[in-house]
Amino acid sequence: MPAFTTKHIRLPELPHFVYAKDSRRAAGLSVGVDLTPDGACTFHCVYCKVDRSNDARAPRPGAQNVAEAVAGLLVHLAVQGSRPVDIAFAGSGEPLSATAFADALRAVLDVRDRGPFPTIPVRILTSGVGLQRPDLRALLVETESRGVDVWLKLDAGSASDFARVNAPNLAFQDWLEGVRALGRARRVTLQAMLFETPGRARVDIDAWLARVAALCDEGVRVEQVQIVTLSDPSHAETDARAIATAELEAIAARLRSLTGLRVDVYV
Ligand code: SF4
Repeated sequence: MPAFTTKHIRLPELPHFVYAKDSRRAAGLSVGVDLTPDGACTFHCVYCKVDRSNDARAPRPGAQNVAEAVAGLLVHLAVQGSRPVDIAFAGSGEPLSATAFADALRAVLDVRDRGPFPTIPVRILTSGVGLQRPDLRALLVETESRGVDVWLKLDAGSASDFARVNAPNLAFQDWLEGVRALGRARRVTLQAMLFETPGRARVDIDAWLARVAALCDEGVRVEQVQIVTLSDPSHAETDARAIATAELEAIAARLRSLTGLRVDVYV
């Protein structure tokens, strides 16, 4: 079995929906769970790199299959002396959109508790579409005490930027209501992908800063704000480009000054 020294690794003896990768934001090796290997997502972000060109994408896994695969990978890591920093529901699309999500989350928590790394967090990386459902919000609130973190995408501060950048399948106000409802009931981390595209207006940074501040004022319990940019200098299909680190740091400083939140830049 290979050692986990490269960026994104799947073991041939494990199924396609579980992998290990180096994560900038998690600051270490992350065990990934992909509940939507078909690439289905509730956003259509202009910078998205998920390849949806193949109609014959792999089928979605069931909860038990996910739990068994994660258990196998955790044991493998322990045997080779590697320690993951988290288990992340991320992958090719939106985890909350998978019908197996609730059962898979509970099963993975049980596997983690019984396995070699019982204290690592389980993170849900989500667009926030799905938080309009009370049952999903209740699940995420209930599991906070079991070490479940929610990392919510917040790329835009206005309805027009939201439509332009994320091209979601629901209205900005409806999306905001779900975010507020969850964030008032449990801690959340906000993630912003900031980028630029030659010849087109950037996301309105002032509006984005104001939106984060407004969410805090409205009672959303923001634990951290993560600012990232594209990992490649430019995106081949959309021409989207990374923003310079110094500028991202300046934006982070403005947000810290405005809100007092922990704000980190990952490049
Ligand atoms: S939320 Fe993530 S997977 Fe979905 S379209 Fe945006 S970048 Fe792609």
